[in-house]
Amino acid sequence: MSSEHERGDKKGQFCSIPAKPKCGDCPHPKDYIEVCKPTGWFDHTFKRFVNAKDPFTFEKKFEAHHLVCVAPVTQILLSNDGINSVIEQTKWCINNKDNMIAMPLWGHTVKWYCEVEESISVDEVADVINDAMKAPKFKNIPQHDYDHNCKEGYTWEVEVEVEKLADKVKEQGHKLKGKALEGKLNKLSSDFRSRLLDDRGTRKGGTHAAWKLAQKEPPDPDWCQPFSMASDSKVSSKGFPVRVFNGQVAKWVNRIAKAISSGV
Ligand SMILES: [Zn+2]
Ligand SMILES: [Zn+2]
Repeated sequence: MSSEHERGDKKGQFCSIPAKPKCGDCPHPKDYIEVCKPTGWFDHTFKRFVNAKDPFTFEKKFEAHHLVCVAPVTQILLSNDGINSVIEQTKWCINNKDNMIAMPLWGHTVKWYCEVEESISVDEVADVINDAMKAPKFKNIPQHDYDHNCKEGYTWEVEVEVEKLADKVKEQGHKLKGKALEGKLNKLSSDFRSRLLDDRGTRKGGTHAAWKLAQKEPPDPDWCQPFSMASDSKVSSKGFPVRVFNGQVAKWVNRIAKAISSGV
């Protein structure tokens, strides 16, 4: 996918621009971030370090993910000479509520479990992990910065499905447009929501159970599965430490946090 398609485009009635503020003639009352703002955890942030000329940190909130993503839709449907005349006649905006979902980043997860741990001593950690440590409100949602764009990861899956849709439009002699095409796109949004929430985020008993699995001795090598946006065989190993350091979970978490901030 070329980066030019990341910005989206608007042709006729069809819009794939992740616009903020919202695009003027789109029917939705909120922009794409507001429209998926989670009720229970929108204020759970972590300090994100930005390595600019003058480095700075800011409080990072949830990320707004387009279930059917901007680049594939723009490239495969809207910039496709064979079918774009049909696409343009279809009233659909990529920022519609059903195509949006709020997702956490690794940083949100680490921050959540770190904060819980700060209030207890290292000796108590082992008990607390099994008993009192509460699951975050964003449990069982994969991490937006994990396997989105890896080889045959989430974006690739979207490309495959959008290609199929483009083929259908061609096959049907361009009759698949308007409401019918809108319906197919909405179906794709709900399919991908289900892939993330029903299929991926629940692996290994869900993210909360999996976080604990990582700290078992020996650790379960598949502990990171529910955190990944990719299908089972495409989950990439991040090389995160999966060993318990004599119960010193805080140290373990710190190493994960470092791995994340250095982008590995
Ligand atoms: Zn995304
Ligand atoms: Zn729009």
